[in-house]
Amino acid sequence: MSRDDDVYQHYIDGEWTDGTGEETFTSENPANGDELGKFRRGTEADVDRAVAAADDAFEEWKELSHIDRAEYLWDIYHELKERHQELGEIVTMECGKEISEGKADVTEAWHMVEWAAGDARHPKGDVVPSEIPSKDAYMRRKPRGVVGCITPWNFPVAIPFWHMAVALVEGNTVVFKPAEQTPWCAQILAEMFEDAGVPDGVFNLVQGFGDAGNAIVEDDRVDTVLFTGSAEVGHKIASKVGGEPGKLAACEMGGKNNIVVTENADLDTAVHSATMSSFKTTGQRCVSSERIVVHEDVYDEFKERFVENAQNVAVGDPLDENTFMGPLIEPEHKQKVSQYNQLAKDEGVTVLVDREELDDSEIPEGHEEGHWVGPFVYEADPHEDLRCTHEEVFGPHVALLKYSGDIEEAVDIHNDTDYGLAGAIISEDYRQINYFRDNAEIGLAYGNLPCIGAEVHLPFGGVKKSGNGYPSAREVIEAVTERTAWTLNNSKDIE
Ligand code: NAD
Repeated sequence: MSRDDDVYQHYIDGEWTDGTGEETFTSENPANGDELGKFRRGTEADVDRAVAAADDAFEEWKELSHIDRAEYLWDIYHELKERHQELGEIVTMECGKEISEGKADVTEAWHMVEWAAGDARHPKGDVVPSEIPSKDAYMRRKPRGVVGCITPWNFPVAIPFWHMAVALVEGNTVVFKPAEQTPWCAQILAEMFEDAGVPDGVFNLVQGFGDAGNAIVEDDRVDTVLFTGSAEVGHKIASKVGGEPGKLAACEMGGKNNIVVTENADLDTAVHSATMSSFKTTGQRCVSSERIVVHEDVYDEFKERFVENAQNVAVGDPLDENTFMGPLIEPEHKQKVSQYNQLAKDEGVTVLVDREELDDSEIPEGHEEGHWVGPFVYEADPHEDLRCTHEEVFGPHVALLKYSGDIEEAVDIHNDTDYGLAGAIISEDYRQINYFRDNAEIGLAYGNLPCIGAEVHLPFGGVKKSGNGYPSAREVIEAVTERTAWTLNNSKDIE
């Protein structure tokens, strides 16, 4: 039973519960304003109970083998696959991504579960040669304990599994605090853990806002905090946890990502990559590109073709398969994007496309309450220190930055932001591609591809203001396990 009086509950210690708070909040469809559900707002006391349950459950859970723990996740893997269409539609309804992206969110989730559960059968740790022949030396991994997972709204199924799947298979227990914009997706995940028979307290869900997230961060019994979200919140968490001995935080934050188009680029690839990377998910991906750095030799042709795409991408009902861009997540975010568009104008850029206010004819019937916005594209001087070209907008707000020199100049422009998450180079010259790979200050680098995708068996993370550890994909194992250097003396002599 997950719903009492039409209000969805928290899932703590194997039970659905109202928790201690009186407050509730609603999830709304950003495409039409429809209410999708009402949810309990978690309090510090609810987090306290969830952490206590996770702490208690850890003792037994860590005694199971990796393979036994993975069995629970295989059930979830099959459920994610079987319910692909239905869950994809729910993602789309709750966060406004168009339907192929809603379904891709679910696909990424099962890829991560498959990786984590499959990895249960791989060796963990290393046998290393000892300096003394009579000794055996190993590196062993052990679970850290209670892992707090704090996630954003834009990948409401994939990112929670990116955090939790490896953590659980490695023997940790979890307290999950999803984004307040996507509690329905989180509710369904919790039902999957319940249906899979995961032992009480191993997985706990506390719905709510930043105060509940903060209570997880501040709880001494939480051993690792995994966070994906904005740089503002991520830096707060990293600095709080950094002061606590023995506690770890791995934080993945936003970006101000570039695509570099060099003088010999294939322009079909360049225009396609920039269009996909700037406008998919309505620019609300951490890897979306908001800066396209284009060589002067191909600038005019690139600009003409990219502008044409920006003027024509279909904005509309995200459940309609012909839609390219859905709405923004919420009114406050629409206001933020609009403020950045205005800031760009105030900073003196040359506006090329301004579809901020859509025509009434573009808004599908019955969707008048959606948080609609179209592409905003402008030209700016790459060497000017403008806020609009340096701060993450998280919307379809794109600067074209022309350069005239060599690949070194393009990469200098690329690196001239405080962020370092993702970037792409479009070029037919392998020397330029290699130079970009070696010198672009980013964690996720793409060659002749849009910066858009992620593969779970690669590390996923950033540098500079974008990242501080890896809370997801392959490298998350470092944040959710301890290493023990074990040396065994096989001789009678003690040295
Ligand atoms: P957000 O930082 O506002 O919220 C993320 C989560 O943190 C939510 O669950 C929120 O309730 C919680 N939170 C808020 N304040 C908190 C606090 N003081 N202590 C603890 N938890 C707190 O981010 P968002 O708006 O949900 O997501 C958008 C941002 O996420 C963008 O900046 C985007 O670039 C970034 N993002 C990064 C990645 C990545 O892998 N690098 C992936 C997706 C999104």
